[in-house]
Amino acid sequence: MNRVFLVLMIVLHFTAYSQSRKKVIIVLTYDDGLASQLDIAIPQLDSLGFKGTFFLTGYVGPKTIPRWRQMALKGHELANHSLYHPCLLTTVKGNAANNSANYSVYMMLREIGEMNNLLFAVDGGVSPRTYAYPCTEVAVGGINYVDSLRQSGLVKYARIGGGPDAVITDFKKLDPLQVPAWGIHAGVTGDELIAFVKKVQQSGGMGVLMFHGVGGDYITTPAAAHKKLLLYLKQHENEIEVTTFRAGMDGVAALNHN
Ligand SMILES: [Zn+2]
Repeated sequence: MNRVFLVLMIVLHFTAYSQSRKKVIIVLTYDDGLASQLDIAIPQLDSLGFKGTFFLTGYVGPKTIPRWRQMALKGHELANHSLYHPCLLTTVKGNAANNSANYSVYMMLREIGEMNNLLFAVDGGVSPRTYAYPCTEVAVGGINYVDSLRQSGLVKYARIGGGPDAVITDFKKLDPLQVPAWGIHAGVTGDELIAFVKKVQQSGGMGVLMFHGVGGDYITTPAAAHKKLLLYLKQHENEIEVTTFRAGMDGVAALNHN
């Protein structure tokens, strides 16, 4: 065989091989703007060069706002989790004023809009923001507000909940305002977190993880388990793209557009 032809065959084969190995997407999201995220999760992410998405509420203040601003400067995404985090008080304890049963859709959208403004004051970032439904509830006062939110243009993408089987494989059928995520339980192990990522690797899609506390606060992922997950992601960075919710969903939207 002609040597040039042989080299060409090898190059073509290698190109086909590398194109068949598309990266899967892993999105690390953190809810409620907790201190343990600033103190433990973000230093761990930074040490390995990963960016996370942080769904903040209006319960930020003079002590935390400068720190969140710094995190945004490092490339982490600050995102919208509403001002007062209204939930059905039948499912969680909370301030009666924030009982979503007593909310109208108008009140909810107004609150999401004001949280966008607060986030802009914190980091000067782009709008529309991404959003996570408080308590993963898509209804207030008994009315589903997904389509009202879509029409409002207040948010670009929105995250709902889900279990450890919430692996996204069909991008065409994915509603960008109802993106499922695994709501991670308290005391999760590093191996459980890695098992979820492996499921995503096998399916070739996208996986969104929903953390609360890391090494503290509540619904706490132990710091060592979080670190173990990050080390696994680093070791497999040729096959796994770890990115923010906004960037991950932008990638999905671009794929759907093609
Ligand atoms: Zn929350």
